[in-house]
Amino acid sequence: MKKKNIVILTGAGISAESGIKTFRDSNGLWEGHDVMEVASPQGWRNNRSLVQDFYNQRRKQLKEVSPNQGHLSLVELEKAFNVCIITQNVDDLHERAGSSRVVHLHGELLKARSTVDPSLVYEWNDDISENDKCEKGSQLRPHIVWFGEAVPMLEQAAMLTSVADIMIIVGTSLQVYPAAGLSAYAPSGIPIFYVDPFPKTNAELNGAQNLTVISEKATTGIPKLVQILMEKMK
Ligand code: NAD
Repeated sequence: MKKKNIVILTGAGISAESGIKTFRDSNGLWEGHDVMEVASPQGWRNNRSLVQDFYNQRRKQLKEVSPNQGHLSLVELEKAFNVCIITQNVDDLHERAGSSRVVHLHGELLKARSTVDPSLVYEWNDDISENDKCEKGSQLRPHIVWFGEAVPMLEQAAMLTSVADIMIIVGTSLQVYPAAGLSAYAPSGIPIFYVDPFPKTNAELNGAQNLTVISEKATTGIPKLVQILMEKMK
């Protein structure tokens, strides 16, 4: 029998219990910074070294944290389902937990890219400095989708969502578009599960006919949901 497709949209909340702060739980600040200062093209133009330093710190922090039970439980689903994770997170905790198919909608901390040719993307584990240039000689920047920039992985994410049999949404405030509107691409009537201790249902989710909200943290809510879904497949 063909395995059912599960699409999982994750946000900053799934990594919160690993020790990486979300930003809407910190008064709209990302690790103490106004997001427009560190996550917008204007911010980059105004103060390049502040932006580089911010992501250099995030890269350092990533080495000190580990996947939590939420990330780990999602891997379990691959035994019975065709699983695809679409994450808004720039950390690599899903990959380190062992998930095999992860689409990063907003970029990846452990990559750097050219400022003249966005197709030049490099694996990057340490600081990006002012001397780090792409092969065309331009400054490297973090491989992050900043506010106001195009979201190149959106088309693939929408396509994957459009063939989902089940959708799971975890730890996102559903404030950042277009990610927040992804559930609108899901076939109508499929079961949608939303795990978040403070769920916010926006217009798209309110319209979902088959929505189950699990108001729990990722480390308790996801294992419970995974157990229910795995039991159903027996
Ligand atoms: P957000 O900060 O807007 O919202 C976080 C959500 O997580 C909230 O709804 C909150 O109730 C929920 N939450 C808090 N603790 C939780 C827990 N223990 N378990 C489950 N849910 C929990 O996050 P967002 O919607 O992902 O949007 C923020 C944007 O900022 C993203 O696009 C992302 O690129 C970026 N960001 C990424 C990281 C990361 O990579 N880990 C961290 C901060 C921000």
